[in-house]
Formats: sequence, C-alpha cells, structure tokens
Amino acid sequence: MEPEKSSNGANHYQNVACPFCGILCDDLEIGPSGSGLKVLKNGCVKSVAGFERPLVEPKPQVDGKDVSLDEAIAEAARLIRESRLPAFGGLGTDVDGVRAVIALAEKGGGVVDHALSDAQYRNFRVLQSSGWVLTTLTEARNRADLFIIAGSDVHKLHPRFFERIVCNEASMFSDNPPKRTVVFLGEGLDQSAVTGKERIGEIVTLPVKSERIAEVLDAMRALNKGATIPGDDIGGLPRAAVDDLLARCKAASYGVVVWAPPSLGFPSADLTVQAISEFVKDINLTSRFAGLALGGNEGAVSAGAVCGWQSGFPLRVSFASGKPDYDAERYAISRLLYAKETDLLLWIASFSPDLTPPDTDVPMILLGTPSVKPARTPKVYIPVGTPGVDHAGVMVRVDNVVSLPLRKLRQSNLPSAASVLEKIEAAL
Ligand code: SF4
Repeated sequence: MEPEKSSNGANHYQNVACPFCGILCDDLEIGPSGSGLKVLKNGCVKSVAGFERPLVEPKPQVDGKDVSLDEAIAEAARLIRESRLPAFGGLGTDVDGVRAVIALAEKGGGVVDHALSDAQYRNFRVLQSSGWVLTTLTEARNRADLFIIAGSDVHKLHPRFFERIVCNEASMFSDNPPKRTVVFLGEGLDQSAVTGKERIGEIVTLPVKSERIAEVLDAMRALNKGATIPGDDIGGLPRAAVDDLLARCKAASYGVVVWAPPSLGFPSADLTVQAISEFVKDINLTSRFAGLALGGNEGAVSAGAVCGWQSGFPLRVSFASGKPDYDAERYAISRLLYAKETDLLLWIASFSPDLTPPDTDVPMILLGTPSVKPARTPKVYIPVGTPGVDHAGVMVRVDNVVSLPLRKLRQSNLPSAASVLEKIEAAL
C-alpha cells in the first residue's frame, strides 16, 4: 500500500509491519516527526524505541578510524580470507541478510549461529527428537478458549501479544466468541495486559517455579491416563489446583499452551518444552489442543528458517569443509569463542542496540545499527540500516507460517546488511 502524505508533505504509513519482536505486528501507523519517525498508533515500548530511534549515519571504521565503505569492505574481506575459521554470529538481520551471510560463510568457510540460539535450541531439540503439535498466532487468536502461559514473561518479550492474540474482542469465526480463561503457570509473570471484560472470562494464577512446570505437566499426563499420584502437592502446587487445571484442559474446545524459550533460562529447559509438547499431544487425542512457541526476537526465526532451507539444518552449521556440517554443540559460537577455535567474529545487529557482541579478544567485524556499543573496538565497523525502517525487507513470523514484507520508512544512507555482506563476498 502506498503511504499517505501527512499535512506537512512527509509520508504517513498505515499497516506497517514491525520488526522489533518475533510476532511482527502488521497494523502500526507511523508518521514523520522532525527528521525522524513517530509511532502514531498500535505501538508498544519496543516498537517506539525502535522506530523512533534517531537516525545517525556514522562512517565505517577500521581500527576505530573513519574510512570509506569500500575500504572497510576490503579490510573485512581480507580478514575473512586470512581467517582459519571465521564465525558469523549475531545474525540480527532480515531474510536477505541471512541469505547473504550464509553465502559469505559458504565462500569464506565459516560457521553461522544466531545470538539467541541457546533459547531456540530449547525448541529445536524437541522438534528434532519427538515432535510437537503447534498452532499459529491466527488460529490462537480466533479459536482458543483456554490459554496456559507456561513460565514465560510473554508481556516483556512481546508487549502486544495479549492485546492482539488473547484479549481481541472479535473472532473470525464467530459473532459471539466464548470468553477465555487465561492460566498463568509460573512465578512472577506479568498479567497486567490481560484486560477487557468482552473476551476475558477468568484469570487463574498458579505460581509454580519454572523448573517444576514439567513435573506438573507430566503429572497431568499421568492423571489423564488414569494413574494414581499420591500426596497433596504436585510440583509445589496444591493437588486440587493441578486436578482443576487438568479438568479445564479436558473441557476446553481449543486449548493453547504458550511458552517463550528465552524465558526458560534454566538447565535442560528443553525437557520442559518436551513436557509441554507431550502433554499437548495427549490432550489433543480427545480435545483440540496445541502449543504456541514465542520468542524469535532479533530476527532469530528468519535466521533459523533461511539456514534450514539453504543448508538443510537449523543454525550452528559450519561450511569449513566446503559443505554444510551441522553440530548443535560444537558450532555454538559462544563455545567456539571460549575455546578459541575461531579466530574471527563477524557480528550482525541491525535491529536493536541490545544485541551487543560478546566481549572477546577475537578480532571482530561488526555490522551494526549505529547505537550498538561493543565492549571493545571492532577491527572493522560498518554501520547498517534497520530492516523495515531504513530499507525494505522480509521477515519470518514467530509461528513460521508467514513471512511479512517490511518497508523503507525514511531516507537513510545506511546500507542494508545484505548489501554489505554481498560486497564482502564479492571482494573475497
Ligand atoms: S509487540 Fe513486537 S511486533 Fe508488536 S509492535 Fe511491539 S515490538 Fe513490534
């Protein structure tokens, strides 16, 4: 859709897709404000921080000194050419950026991994080993009558998730959709965004430690199969509360268990994702039930998807042998840096300054939004634009079923990460 002109002649955009978290809301209204942008409608704290970040256009640098883009690219190519095993990490970029970095890794013989892979692997391991039944944001929004939020501070990671997917008044399939029950299964989860009498029937709080959520779900699976579990306490919850939750699940017409892997930051948390997935499968035999995995900020979902279709493997792939070699432990960039198995880090962070590169003495090429502040001066720094703000692009949504187009919203001389990576590859 073409942008409307606002009264001062600057562009005014409707239905803008937001790249600043994995759920990619596509209903924002953005207008001009001075030399920058202003979120006029349907924003949140993350999107306002991203879209309204002032445009600055520093020059590329080599060893902290300003140089031309061509000189920075030539130096980056030289470093990759001379590297024994370059590591291509961060990967905070869009689909084109990930395609370009994988092409560069193939030619330069390096390893690709996303900064948030530790969290993503809590999901990948379950998908690889035992599978799951997942739903989509659209299905959940339109059909679910029971949401279980499992140990995840969804509101912090995705500030508009509840507004758009849980508290929405209208449903695509009913003029009079049933009220919803929202169960917070976890400690200290922000419930403040679950509001509105039209759609929210009941909010249930079950304060179980995140590490014990699997215990509760496994017990519910056993109870559902007719097993006897002695005692008045299951996973730290009163037995009656667990019985009640199981009864709600069995009675639901469309139940959804929601989790965000970045929130499950404890050892072997993939077993909690597995417990959720196995519980969902069991209840799904007699009622409609599904999981909904969130997270995927900083382009993590796009990175996983592109790496999957380009190499046949999820992230943590090495191209050092000339063909894709996959190892989820060996090719974790954090491990490669720690073990000094890589001698060069190329880090991409084009969405937010929060994706800072690791503090390492391994030489670094940084392709970052100008507000990224690395702990050490990179060998090469090339400022890049933000997809969906400074240039157009495409990103894959967290539920992996759609990719959304991003628009260029302002005039900017910052190059896209993809274009810089392509030039580095051409100079290798
Ligand atoms: S919830 Fe996420 S996608 Fe939606 S507006 Fe906020 S940051 Fe953007």
